[in-house]
Amino acid sequence: NLKEKINIETNDEFRDVADAFNMMILKLDQADTERKDFVANVSHELRTPLSSIKILSESLLSENEENIEIYREFLQDIDSEVDRLNNIISDLLSLTTLGKENIILNYRTTYINFLLEKIVLSMKPLAEKKSIKLTLILEEKVQISIDQDKIQQAVINVIDNAIKYTQQNGLIEIKLYTLEQYAVIAIKDNGIGIPEDCIPHIFERFYRVDKARSRETGGTGLGLSISWQIVSLHKGIIEVDSQYGKGSTFYIKLPLQ
Ligand code: ADP
Repeated sequence: NLKEKINIETNDEFRDVADAFNMMILKLDQADTERKDFVANVSHELRTPLSSIKILSESLLSENEENIEIYREFLQDIDSEVDRLNNIISDLLSLTTLGKENIILNYRTTYINFLLEKIVLSMKPLAEKKSIKLTLILEEKVQISIDQDKIQQAVINVIDNAIKYTQQNGLIEIKLYTLEQYAVIAIKDNGIGIPEDCIPHIFERFYRVDKARSRETGGTGLGLSISWQIVSLHKGIIEVDSQYGKGSTFYIKLPLQ
């Protein structure tokens, strides 16, 4: 009867509202936990170089020796810790800017070919320091609409990692092609590779497979999350295929339309 029907419908509606409300609370809870984790991570990351600087400067101040070499060595260490702090802060600023809801991308129709040629040329000296061979293979001429500076940053982060996590005399190949509705930039290295269980976390902020190695090479643990944000803002996809001990291939896929 009608009364029963109204009752059922009202109950259903009430349940929907309650479900939506619970979902909202859950999301707020999650966002709050993520925010707290992020702040804890940032504090930890900033504190590490600061502690080193404090220890180094205290030892310098208490140093009675007149050996200039010791002073120079300690000051060099302080200098590189300051560089580290600078890198972390500029990466954090990039992430914050990219995460803004009202971010405006400066879209321009661009030949990815030219952009990649420019990037590879600028990264060659870094690769040469480790005698790594950087090859660029442009299979097609691809023109798409992108924010050039941002995509450049996303690609540089991935190539920079390929150089960092590949041994001396290694090989890095950057390839451009189209696949279905995407322009694909594939960055392949024959470096250290990523253990299978670490792959799902690789784009998370501050995640590193080997913290010590990442620090040694000046890594902040934020490079890939910045690339992920940039590619996502372009409605693209960034993926990785990797075999531990053999090498990795990162794919940056940007929509052709
Ligand atoms: P980092 O500043 O530590 O390099 P990223 O966010 O750029 O931070 O990368 C996260 C982690 O992913 C790195 O610490 C490293 O362990 C791993 N990684 C990234 N790229 C590669 C690669 N090409 N080969 C092996 N490991 C990689």
